[in-house]
Amino acid sequence: MMLHGIGATICKTLLVACGAVYSPMTQLHDPETLALDGEDVLTREEAAPFELLEGAVDRGLVLLCDHASNHLPAHYGSLGLPIAEFERHIAYDIGAAQVTRKMSKILGVPAVLSNFSRLLIDPNRGSDDPTLIMQLSDGAIIPGNANLSNEERARRLEHYYRPYHDAIGQLLDSCIKSGRPPAIVSLHSFTQKWHGSMRPWEAALLWDKDARLVKPMLDCLRRETDFSIGDNEPYAGNLQGDTMYRHGTQRGLAHVLVEIRQDQIKDVPGQQEWAGRLADILTRIMADPERALELSIIKK
Ligand SMILES: [Zn+2]
Repeated sequence: MMLHGIGATICKTLLVACGAVYSPMTQLHDPETLALDGEDVLTREEAAPFELLEGAVDRGLVLLCDHASNHLPAHYGSLGLPIAEFERHIAYDIGAAQVTRKMSKILGVPAVLSNFSRLLIDPNRGSDDPTLIMQLSDGAIIPGNANLSNEERARRLEHYYRPYHDAIGQLLDSCIKSGRPPAIVSLHSFTQKWHGSMRPWEAALLWDKDARLVKPMLDCLRRETDFSIGDNEPYAGNLQGDTMYRHGTQRGLAHVLVEIRQDQIKDVPGQQEWAGRLADILTRIMADPERALELSIIKK
């Protein structure tokens, strides 16, 4: 079944047809029971390249998860990699999808999650970024990405990358049409160790020029937890062409990229704790009328 095209059509139809609630029809699986063992991941039927979660478009908030899935469409096999590699961060952000789903439910806001591994194509890169399709990632050579033809590159852009970004763009359009432009919260996770060293931050907020949402979130996280919270560490949030640049900076929408260390959210209790913590902080921020107004201004 060629679901990628259908996914895009459904998205378009929904955005036109829905009133205040963004209703997904692309719920592909029970998120809590999604098997992450190699065989299931690699043989799961071809699915839509993104997943939409239901939520109110006029609540001023949209959630994104770029690296939600380690799924590869069946015809790509395992890109020549041992299946175990798909359990690692090189394939997806461990725990990030579950945190996103739980936050969407608690807050009642819509979310878009990717439904393909970043090893196929990385949606958090500009389409001309040299790391868009990685040939080498954290020590693993990816045979299925070596010497890629222009046709295959274009195919991945057309069938996976663009439908995901189109879905985000259309959801944001729909929110803006409701009269309340949304702030965007993008959820990611990072590894505990990097090149043999432990990373000290339990979580981090990444941003570029727009601090509207970053500042109050950073204040809350630092004041209310004992965690070390990175501010543009371990990564800088100013990568041109990435998801936040494209949908946040370029559209003038308030945004933040939240990175959570993987040991914090590798299991359900940690995922619940972080989803609850972030949802609570966002609820309080949005409950302040002045702050909410500032976050809804399109600022270019
Ligand atoms: Zn990520």
